[in-house]
Amino acid sequence: MRITVLAGGIGGARFTRGLLHHLRTAAPGSEVTVIGNTGDDIRLFGLQICPDLDTVMYSLGDGISVERGWGREDETFTIKEELAAYGVQPGWFGLGDRDTATHLVRSQMLAGGYPLSAVTSALCERWQPGVRLIPMSDDRVETHVIVDGDEPGTRRAIHFQEWWIKHRAALPAHGFVLVGVDVAKPAPGVLEAISDTDLLLLPPSNPVVSIGTILQVAGIRDAVLATTAPVVGVSPIVGGAPVRGMADACLSAIGVETSAAAVARHYGARQPTPGGGDAAGLLDGWLVHAASDAGAVHELTPLGIATRAVPLLMTDLDATAEIAAAAIDLAESVRR
Ligand code: GDP
Ligand code: CA
Repeated sequence: MRITVLAGGIGGARFTRGLLHHLRTAAPGSEVTVIGNTGDDIRLFGLQICPDLDTVMYSLGDGISVERGWGREDETFTIKEELAAYGVQPGWFGLGDRDTATHLVRSQMLAGGYPLSAVTSALCERWQPGVRLIPMSDDRVETHVIVDGDEPGTRRAIHFQEWWIKHRAALPAHGFVLVGVDVAKPAPGVLEAISDTDLLLLPPSNPVVSIGTILQVAGIRDAVLATTAPVVGVSPIVGGAPVRGMADACLSAIGVETSAAAVARHYGARQPTPGGGDAAGLLDGWLVHAASDAGAVHELTPLGIATRAVPLLMTDLDATAEIAAAAIDLAESVRR
């Protein structure tokens, strides 16, 4: 079976780990392609940093700090401390020493003319993530957040990482601007991985600044709409709140309620039932958390989104593999 996953960082990486664990026994020989979000990328101190690609690569390659969920295990922060001693900004970014080696290799290869997709494959030769990891685009796309300016009535845009890490998403956001997305093309293999797959999964990644960003690269949303594979998503929202992180702040910025059902309505049904919805959306199926969100099944099914309620907490590898198994099972039930 060929499976394609559109992933952000922690949620996408953990889910994919569980998916691989499930496939090892249930469908050995399956091929998984992960299309990674690069809207979170930031250039700091001359380094090109791709937090979401690295989270996927380290998580699947057993190099992640499980405790933090990002960056390397056994990490030290000497470079960060030395930079702080020079008083250089920004001081809020978690630049680990081991992690910096990855950023150095990437930056050097990019400077040598290799596209990000080739650089990512090269980095993955070390980590052997067990998936084909492709950035959504080789072109630079950066998510910026519109916040209030210093003068009353004015607004300014700051880099997503400044908003997310420095301000903990507490500055009210008026929207997101994807700098560069108007000219960005999907990286080689991205559109084919969506059209020529047996199953497309939307893991519990941030619907706005992870999956929403990937979908905005020219051609990707259309490829999802057109694929013959079933498209099944897993809710990142459980009991009206993100399981981890501040996705609620992202959802309110685009006017979407923080609930499992509202995120599904935001993605939309691929084949809305008569009277059940309007423009064609993305989802054939949707998983919600049984203990808190089972009510969404009755709300979403009439809209044309086959919804099932199962436990959705990725507490350990086995629990996460169960979620992946439930997503595959749901996909088989909606396969046309
Ligand atoms: P980021 O780029 O590191 O922010 O990661 P992603 O975009 O891939 O995923 C973040 C989302 O994962 C958040 O909105 C969380 O609510 C969600 N998430 C994290 N852990 C879990 C979990 O155990 N279960 C579910 N359903 N969602 C989770
Ligand atoms: Ca991210």
